[in-house]
Amino acid sequence: MDHRATPEEIQRVVDTISDMGYGAKPMPGRQRTAIGLVGNDGRVESARLAGLPGVRELIKVSQPYKQVSREWRDEDTLVDIGNGVVIGGREVVVIAGPCAVEGREQILDIAARVRDAGASALRGGAFKPRTSPYSFQGLGPKGLELLAEAREETGLAVVTEAVEPEGVALVAEYADVIQIGARNMQNYPLLKRAGRSGRPVLLKRGMSATITELLLAAEYLLSEGNPHVILCERGVRSFDTRTRNLLDLTAIPLVKSLTHLPVIADPSHGTGVRDKVTPMARAAVAVGADGLIIEVHPNPPEALSDGAQSLYPEQFERLIRQCGPIAEAIDRSLARLPETVGSAGHF
Ligand code: PEP
Ligand code: MN
Repeated sequence: MDHRATPEEIQRVVDTISDMGYGAKPMPGRQRTAIGLVGNDGRVESARLAGLPGVRELIKVSQPYKQVSREWRDEDTLVDIGNGVVIGGREVVVIAGPCAVEGREQILDIAARVRDAGASALRGGAFKPRTSPYSFQGLGPKGLELLAEAREETGLAVVTEAVEPEGVALVAEYADVIQIGARNMQNYPLLKRAGRSGRPVLLKRGMSATITELLLAAEYLLSEGNPHVILCERGVRSFDTRTRNLLDLTAIPLVKSLTHLPVIADPSHGTGVRDKVTPMARAAVAVGADGLIIEVHPNPPEALSDGAQSLYPEQFERLIRQCGPIAEAIDRSLARLPETVGSAGHF
């Protein structure tokens, strides 16, 4: 309370807090009185208090998110992505593939190559949230079928994006992990639907989203009953246009200290520049990322989306070779699928 607040003004705040269903604990001090609100369940409408006469400042001591926090659950959450691979444990998991599924030959070819190089999951959009309505929007349901075929052939788990609530059920039929993209991080109907999908969700940080907003978006998924959530740092908008985005590496250890959910890095969208992807992938592993998601294309100059940041398959092989020893330096290792292709038996 303001140091000039009257006893009546203090009492009014106490009464309002009680009215709202919480405990009020006035703490008179030499200069001013502080009033504690006890029992905050995350639903406190703080504007009701901020406007009362004599109120100086509202200081939040508890976080607005609950179930995603380390206070709610201290042990790391392990997310099983369907083919026996787990994200969030000691192993660093690599997801790789093109930005978009473009055709049968393209996706089967790149799936086999990233698998042989050491990826555990295949990425590729069938539904693409493109900035321009005139850009390639993805193959749609056909793309999902092709991803499923690539999974049959390789044993890779499939990670692919859902762009609208109505599309979640179809994506969930084909995907092992449903991706929610940066542009949709705050699409609350989509989050709620994905929270009820029964599939793990890969939630990407919005391009201007704060860490609290990212955690609150994840809270939507958990509050709908889905604890299998993987967070992804994919770069934020910055003032500098040399790179597409600014990969916020600090967010990785920071978010991991706030939440039990696994955190992976996307240095492809995080830089937008092909030859910066591998250095930033190495750095992401070094700061403790639980996984990487990397765009790789059989022929990047011909890619229908994100060609400039897509690695050539040979570059991806090198990325894997270089990230392995970095993982080992911090007592981790890169996840590997069993050698035998096609006989994985999980599908
Ligand atoms: C993608 O993964 O291809 C994508 C569209 O990423 P983001 O949502 O992070 O831009
Ligand atoms: Mn992309």
